[in-house]
Amino acid sequence: MTKWVYDFAEGSRDMRELLGGKGANVAEMTRVLGPERVPAGFTITTEACVAYMRDGAEPGGMEAQVDEALARLEAGAGKRLGEPSDPLLVSVRSGARESMPGMLDTVLNLGLNDESVQGLAERTGNQRFAWDSYRRFVQMFGNVVRGIHEDRFEDAIDEAKQAKGVRHDTELDTDDLRALTERFKAIFREETGEEFPLEPREQLRQAIRAVFGSWTGERAVAYRRSENIPDDWGTAVNVQRMVFGNKGETSGSGVAFSRDFATGEPGLSGDFLINAQGEDVVSGARSTLDIAQLAEVLPDAHRELTEQVARLERHYRNMQDVEFTIEEGQLFFLQTRDAKRPPAASVRFACDAVDEGLLSVEEALMTFKAGDLEPLLHRQFDAAVPVSELARGVGASPGAAKGEIVFTARAAVEAAAEGRDVILVRPKTRPDDYAGMAAAKGILTREGGHGSHAALVARGKGWPCVIGVEQMRVDVENRRATFGETVLEEGTLIGIDGTTGIVTTDDVPLVEPEISEHFERVLVWCDEHRRLGVRANADVGEDARAAVQMGAEGIGLCRTEHTLLSDEHKPKVAAMIMATDDDERRERLAVLLPLQQEVFEDLFAAMGERPVTVRLLDPPLHEFLPDLAELSEEVGRLEERVEVAGIEVTDDAGDLEDELAELRRFLAKVNEIHEENPMLGTRGCRLGILYPEIYEMQVHALMRAVRRVRAGEGAAPHLEIMVPLVDYEQELRLIRELIVRVGDEHGLTAGEDYSIGTMIELPRACFVADRIAEHAEFFSFGTNDLTQTALGFSRDDVESKFVPVYMERRIIDRSPFETIDRPGVGWLVRLAAWVGRERRPDLKLGICGEHGGDPESIDFFHMAGLDYVSCSPFRIPIARVAAAQAAIAHADG
Ligand code: PEP
Ligand code: MG
Repeated sequence: MTKWVYDFAEGSRDMRELLGGKGANVAEMTRVLGPERVPAGFTITTEACVAYMRDGAEPGGMEAQVDEALARLEAGAGKRLGEPSDPLLVSVRSGARESMPGMLDTVLNLGLNDESVQGLAERTGNQRFAWDSYRRFVQMFGNVVRGIHEDRFEDAIDEAKQAKGVRHDTELDTDDLRALTERFKAIFREETGEEFPLEPREQLRQAIRAVFGSWTGERAVAYRRSENIPDDWGTAVNVQRMVFGNKGETSGSGVAFSRDFATGEPGLSGDFLINAQGEDVVSGARSTLDIAQLAEVLPDAHRELTEQVARLERHYRNMQDVEFTIEEGQLFFLQTRDAKRPPAASVRFACDAVDEGLLSVEEALMTFKAGDLEPLLHRQFDAAVPVSELARGVGASPGAAKGEIVFTARAAVEAAAEGRDVILVRPKTRPDDYAGMAAAKGILTREGGHGSHAALVARGKGWPCVIGVEQMRVDVENRRATFGETVLEEGTLIGIDGTTGIVTTDDVPLVEPEISEHFERVLVWCDEHRRLGVRANADVGEDARAAVQMGAEGIGLCRTEHTLLSDEHKPKVAAMIMATDDDERRERLAVLLPLQQEVFEDLFAAMGERPVTVRLLDPPLHEFLPDLAELSEEVGRLEERVEVAGIEVTDDAGDLEDELAELRRFLAKVNEIHEENPMLGTRGCRLGILYPEIYEMQVHALMRAVRRVRAGEGAAPHLEIMVPLVDYEQELRLIRELIVRVGDEHGLTAGEDYSIGTMIELPRACFVADRIAEHAEFFSFGTNDLTQTALGFSRDDVESKFVPVYMERRIIDRSPFETIDRPGVGWLVRLAAWVGRERRPDLKLGICGEHGGDPESIDFFHMAGLDYVSCSPFRIPIARVAAAQAAIAHADG
C-alpha cells in the first residue's frame, strides 16, 4: 500500500520531492528545534496530488491514512478536531517542491463551527477572538475552497464597519463578528447553493481537495510558466495544528529573517503584529512593527526567537526566513526557508558566512543564483542631483526606476510591449499582478509589510519596489494617485528608489551602479574558482574599456560591421559596393581602410595585452544599401517629376534626369544583390570569396593597427582574426591564404604575431570540424546562427511569432535563443569541440553567441570543455559568477 501521508516527525528535508518544500522543511524544523516549538501535523504527499489530478479522485487508501494521522494529531493535542468543548483547529496549506509565494492557497482555523466556536470562546475566555476566528474561517473557506470572490466578504465587512461608524476591523465587537459570520454563511449559501459545511472532517476533505485543485489554478499555472516549474510536480498538503497569535496582548505573529532582509547585515530583522494571525502580517492589511520592538513588548519571546533563528541558519547553512506565532507568550515556528533576498544581501551574506566560518568559499558561492545578482548592476538615482520628495515609503527592493504611472497589471504589460517605461502603482499587489510587476520598471504600493506580496516577489526578482506609502491614496477606477494636495493621473512621470523608499515626480537622472566591496570579493573568489575564461563582445574602444572594467579578459567578438554601418561609414561602404569594376572598388576600399584601422587601434589600445578576436565582415551587403521598396518608390516619384519637368521644359529637368539615372543605378544594384533569404545568402565568408578585396582591406587595416600599436607605448595586443559562417574547410583555406599573404606584406606571421580561426555557426561545420580545424587555431561557436540554422528558426522573427506559443504549450521551456538548446544545438557544440580537438589538440574553443551571458548555458559550456565564453560587457560579472558556480557544481564529475 502506498504511503500517502507522513507525520511531520517522520519527514526530513531530503524528502522535498515527496513532501514539498514546506512539508520537508517543517519536518526538518521539528527535528532541529524539537516538537515543542513546532505545532504538530502531517503532510499529504505530492504523489497523492498527482494521482488526484490524474484520476479526479483521492487515491485508494489516502482517506484512511488521513484519518489515522488525524487521530494521532488529536491524541497528541489531547483534543479532537472541532470538538465542541475544546476544539483542535488546523491549518491546511499547499507546499510545492519549490516555494511559490502567494501562488497556492491556505485555509486557517479549520474545525470551527457553530458549536466549537463556543468551546474556543470558553477555553480562551475570549469571545471576540473566537468569533473573529470563525468569521475568518468562513471567509477563507468560501474564498479558497469554493472560489467565492473575496470582494463579497470584504464588502460585507465594509458594510458592517459603516453601519457601526468605525474605520478598523479591530473596532468590531463580538456581536458584530457573530452577525458577520452569519452574513458570510448566507453569502456562502447564495454563491454555492449549499449550506456551509459544519462537520469538521468534511471541511478537511473539501480543503484538501481545494489545495490539490489550486495546483492547476490560473495563478499557479502562470507562476510556473514564468519560473519554469514543471506542471507534473503537484503540490503537497500540510495539515497542522493551529496556534493563535490573536489571543490577546501576549500573543502575536510575524516573519523574521536571520539577517537584515535588505542588506544581509548580521542581526535579526523582520516584522510582527501583536494580537494578530500570520495572515495579517503577510497580507499587508495592517502596518507592522519592526522586530526590534518585540524585545520591548515580549522580551523572552524575542530572546528565544533570536537564538532559534540563528540555530536554524546554522543548520540550513543559509540565511533563513521564518514565520512564527507567539501564543500567550509561547513561541512557535510555522515555517522556515532559505530567505529570498536582494542581491546586495546575497553577496553580503556570502562574505560574512565565510568570515564567520559558517560556510566554505565554495559553499558560499552556491547560496545564490548568478542571474539573480544582475540588479547589482542596476541603476540608482544620481546622488549629485537633489530630489524633491513627494512621499517616502519603505524601500522593499533596491534599485531606482522611473516611468509613467500605470494602475493595472494589464496596462503595465501593454505599455512594456510598446516599449514605454512604467511604474506599477497599486494599493497592494496580489499574485494576479505578477505579469504587470515583471513588465514594469518598478512597483509602488500603499500598503506595507516586508512580508507583503509586493515586497516578497520584488525582492526575489530584484525589481525596484517601494511599499507602505501610507499618505498615498490609489484610485484604480479613476486612474489617479493622490498624495495630499497632489493628484497624479495615469501617465505622469514618477520615480522610485527601492533602497530609501523615496517617491518623486522629478525626472531624476539614473546612474549606473558601482560594484560594492562585497560583490567585488565574491567576484574575486569566482575568478579563483572558474575554469572558463570570460571575454566581451565589443566592437569599439569605448565598449572594450567598459568590458575591462567589468573584468573582461579579452574580446571574444568584434563585429566589424558595427562601425561600417554607422552614419559616417555607411555611404562609403555603399559607394564601394556600387563600384563598376575591381579598380574602382579598390579605390573606394582605400577610403575605408584608415577608418577601420583607427577603430582597431582604439580597440587594441583599450585591451592592452589581452586577446582580441576580430571578425571579418559578416552581414549581407544589402544592409549597407537603401531598402528595395523605398528605393523603388523614390524612383517612381522622380520619374513622375522628370516627366512633368520635361513637358514644361524647366531648367532643372537635366539635374533631375541625372539624379534619376543615379537612383536607377542604385535600384539595379539593390535588385541584383537582393535575396529572398539573406540570412542564408551571400554573407559571412561567402562575401570574402566573392569579393576578396573587402577582406583584404580589413586585414590590411588590422595589420597596420597591430604594427602601429606595437610601435607606440601600448602593449602588444594578441590579434585573432576570425572568419564567419564557414561551411566547407576549403572556404577557410582560401581565406586563410588571403590573410597570410596580407600579413606577410606587413612582416607579420600567422601563428606568431596573430592567429586565424573561425566561427562555428552552421551544422555542417560542426560535422566536419576536424577538417576545418586543419586551418584554424581557434573556434568560436556562433550559437545565434547555429541555433537559427540547426533548428531552422529565423532568429529575427521567431521570438515575436511562435516562441511565446511554444512556451505556453510547453513545447519548449525557454527560447532557444536565450538559453542553449542542450540536446540539439548543444550536441552540435560538443561534437565540434570533440572532433576539432581530435585533429588539433591545442585548438582554442570559445562561444560568442548571446548564450555566452546566460548562466544556464554557461554551465553547459563548462561541461562541454570550452575555454571561454564571450558576452555583452554588462553581463560579464554574471558570467564570471556562473562560470565559477559551474566549476564548483561539477567539481567531482
Ligand atoms: C552568432 O551567430 O552567434 C554570432 C555571434 O554572430 P552574429 O550574431 O553576429 O551573427
Ligand atoms: Mg553569426
